[in-house]
Amino acid sequence: MDITFFDKGIETLPREKLRLVQEEKLAAMLDTVYGTNRFVTGKLDASGAAPRDVRTLEDLAGLPFTTKAELMAAQAQGPLSTNCTFPEAAYTRVHQTSGTTGPPLRVFDTVESWDWWGRCWGFVLAGAGLTASDRFFVPFSFGPFIGFWAALGGAKRIEALMVPGGGRTSAQRLQLMADMAVTAMACTPTYALRLIEVAREEGFDLSTIPMRITVHAGEPGASVPATKSRIEEEWGARCYDHAGASEVGAHSFECQAQPGGTHVIDSEFIIEVVDPVSGRPVRPGDEGELVITNLGRVGFPVIRYRTGDVVCVNDSPCPCGRTFTRFDGGVIGRVDDMVVIRGVNIYPGAVENLVRRHDAVDEFRVTISRQRELSAILIEIECREGADTQATVRAVQKTFESSLGLRPEVNAVERDSLPRFELKAQRFFVA
Ligand SMILES: [Zn+2]
Repeated sequence: MDITFFDKGIETLPREKLRLVQEEKLAAMLDTVYGTNRFVTGKLDASGAAPRDVRTLEDLAGLPFTTKAELMAAQAQGPLSTNCTFPEAAYTRVHQTSGTTGPPLRVFDTVESWDWWGRCWGFVLAGAGLTASDRFFVPFSFGPFIGFWAALGGAKRIEALMVPGGGRTSAQRLQLMADMAVTAMACTPTYALRLIEVAREEGFDLSTIPMRITVHAGEPGASVPATKSRIEEEWGARCYDHAGASEVGAHSFECQAQPGGTHVIDSEFIIEVVDPVSGRPVRPGDEGELVITNLGRVGFPVIRYRTGDVVCVNDSPCPCGRTFTRFDGGVIGRVDDMVVIRGVNIYPGAVENLVRRHDAVDEFRVTISRQRELSAILIEIECREGADTQATVRAVQKTFESSLGLRPEVNAVERDSLPRFELKAQRFFVA
């Protein structure tokens, strides 16, 4: 396979040169924001840091972290967040977080920083193999949630034909994809699975859509092996993971070598991996919380932002030839989502991976109840029409026993009784 790049020169730059690129951009960003951005200036002054002396990655590690709570507080200061570096006239876009876990955070972009978002998506889409010959469908309701808005900028950069998919039902979207002979799409992994289910219900033949590439964000699913292989089999396409967040930007992507994880766009972000409790760097190769400094969003920057995402850096070279940092397994989960059941550390992605191995399961919900020291796990599964539900219940139980040494309670529920999602799914609950 020919590996496609967005900017091959930068994507294959030796690490020491990449580091110089990062340090140069960091210094330029700090020079602009310090003194003009009230939020950043206040934070740095309070910490006693001397930002004009910050020139290296080691210097950066001496600056304080930024948290979502701080950005929310900066937002509460007025119509514009105090994290805006420039006067209001400079801003051309406002978006917000999905609000699945609390009130939405608004983020502001200038012409330059919105263009930068598009550049980052260029790395994502070219990394998955999209070219100017692709017809790229985005089944997303283009509202205030930032979601896949920036994917449009990426498609423009690589000159693919963008087919917007908002304002219609799933069945209508499938028909539009077939009519337009769509070859690529971007959505959450949950929604790619939902479209498969709708196609089956409607008697729609997915093979009438010449799909070859699917790109997924918003959830770890595309790096969850069982979810990935189900999407790939049903769509007859290669499925790629991508991670980003409103607060920081579109920061990582999966390449065509598909080594079982993602690359960080090191030319646009500086990442650190820290112990979520102590805040100190973890040993190379250990799991920890992802901390990000973005380098292209000077109008609304984040410096050492605590993402709450758990990642694990793999330093070995990637067969694709990129020198960009790799995350094993993409974003593994959220720091807050890890539960310990009888001494076993479990993330929702690991549970999803075990449930999704069973083709008969269309949707599921996991409830973990904590009773004193013991935790119990309940998995409700919704099986597809005609499936042997009791056999599936036993099979799911068995998978958990052999993989995790746990025996969950598994209940089959009526069809269409569990919620369906177009964006981020909520399938995990701790009671
Ligand atoms: Zn690679």
